[in-house]
Amino acid sequence: MVKKMKKYMLMFGMILSVSLVAFSTQVVAEEVLENPIPQVKHNWVEYSTGFDEIEAGTHEYTYWKNFIKRTRTCLITHKIKTVVYYCDLHDHTKSETFLDEVIHSHQHSD
Ligand SMILES: [Zn+2]
Ligand SMILES: [Zn+2]
Repeated sequence: MVKKMKKYMLMFGMILSVSLVAFSTQVVAEEVLENPIPQVKHNWVEYSTGFDEIEAGTHEYTYWKNFIKRTRTCLITHKIKTVVYYCDLHDHTKSETFLDEVIHSHQHSD
């Protein structure tokens, strides 16, 4: 019984020292955070613009011809606009993409 208690005490001591180490590293981490990186301002200037066309699948539409209902397959294309910005303050770039246009291969109303 006494032997068991000793074991528990040893374990408790170990846990205590581990948590003390953890606590001290946390303090160090907080000290580092006291000096935050100054707010960076960018000078984003539009650098280049490009377009890409991506096939976005097909769909079927119906139309009437000579009083007969017909079905046709229409191919959808997404026109994607990519704008690249350049920041001369830090010499880096970023890009943004937009869906510029949805193109249907056939003209239809529905
Ligand atoms: Zn920048
Ligand atoms: Zn269509």
